[in-house]
Amino acid sequence: MSKFISPRFDSLEEYVPGEQPRDKKYIKLNTNESPFPPSPAVLRAGSDQIALCNLYSDPTLRDLRTKIAELYGVEMQNVIATNGSDEALSFAFMAYCDKSTGVAYPDISYGFYKVFAQLYGLDCLEIPLRDDFTINVSDYFGLGRTIFIANPNAPTGIALTPDEIEQIVINNPDNVVIIDEAYVDFGAQSCVPLTKKYKNLLVVQTFSKSRSLAGARIGFAIGDVSLISDLEKLRYSTNPYNVNRMSAACGCAALDENSYYTDNCKKIIKSRELMVKGLTELGFITTKSSANFVFARHTSISGDNIYSKLRENGILVRHFSSPKICEYNRITVGSEEQTKALLNALKIIVKEISK
Ligand SMILES: *Cc1c(COP(=O)(O)O)cnc(C)c1O
Repeated sequence: MSKFISPRFDSLEEYVPGEQPRDKKYIKLNTNESPFPPSPAVLRAGSDQIALCNLYSDPTLRDLRTKIAELYGVEMQNVIATNGSDEALSFAFMAYCDKSTGVAYPDISYGFYKVFAQLYGLDCLEIPLRDDFTINVSDYFGLGRTIFIANPNAPTGIALTPDEIEQIVINNPDNVVIIDEAYVDFGAQSCVPLTKKYKNLLVVQTFSKSRSLAGARIGFAIGDVSLISDLEKLRYSTNPYNVNRMSAACGCAALDENSYYTDNCKKIIKSRELMVKGLTELGFITTKSSANFVFARHTSISGDNIYSKLRENGILVRHFSSPKICEYNRITVGSEEQTKALLNALKIIVKEISK
C-alpha cells in the first residue's frame, strides 16, 4: 500500500473471490457458475451491441428493467439493474446503514457482507447459526439494524420459507431487510411477491448463477418504489452507466428465453440429487441444499485434505478455513457428467485414505 491511502482502510480485508486458475484445465466446481453456456440469442444480442460502443448505454436501463418487471409481476419502477448483484448489495449498504444504524447478518454467510460493512465503517452483529446451520428466525426480530440474509444461505444452501422471512420483515418495521436471492432459482421460494406488501423489504437477484451470465455482471433488486429510488440516487452518484450495453442486451435476450434457463435449473437440481446421493454413499454428511452447490464434510477425512486431493485430481471446490466450517467443502453442482467425475474421483480418494 502507498502512504497516500486513507487510514480508514487500514483494517479493511478485501473480498477474496474463488480461484480462476490458468495453470491447467480443472473441472471447476468452486465458484457456483453455470456449466451451461448462454443461449444463442444472448450471443447474438451481445455482439450486435459491440458496433454501437461509441455510444453510452441507456442510463435508465429501461428495456432490461421492463423485462425483469414483466417476469416478476412488478412495475419497472420497482426494479433497479446493477453491475452484478454485488453492486445492488453495495448500494443497499450505502443507503440503509450508517454509524447509528449498523448491520446484522448470519455469522456463516456470503463473505461480502462483512467486507461491505468494513468498507462503509459499520458496526456489525454476526448472528450465529444453529449447530445444524439453520437460521433461527426470532434472532432477527427487533434488532434496530439493517438485516442482510442470503436465501438460500451460502455456503450452506439451506433456505428459509417466505413465511419465515415475512416474520423477520414484520418484526423490523423501522429497518430494511435485504434478502439476497442469488440461488433462489435452484429450489427455494422467492420473496419478490412480499415486496408489494412491505415497504422495508428489498430482494436482490443475479444473472450470474441460474442464467449463465456471471461474466456479464448483471444483477437487480426489487422493492417498493421508495426503496428503489434510494438505490437509484446512489447509482446516479457513482456510475450511471453501470450496466454496459452488451450486458444489458444479453440480459434482455436471456429473459426472452426463460425456459432455456428454467430447463437448465431442472438439470442442475437433478445433478444435485445425484451428487448428494453419491456423497452420502461415500461417507459424507451434507446440508439440505436448495442451491447449485452442496455443502459437505466427510465423517473421517478433513475438509482441507478433501480439497487438496480433489485439486490434485483436477477438480476445484471451495474450502473455507474459518473454524466452524473448515471440515466442509462447498461443491458447485455442474452438469451430470461433472458430478459423475467428482464422485469417481472421491471414490478413489476416500478408498486411498481409508486404507
Ligand atoms: C454469487 C453471489 C452474489 C453475487 O453475484 P454477482 O455475480 O455479483 O451477481 C451475491 N450473493 C451471493 C450469496 C452469491 O453467492
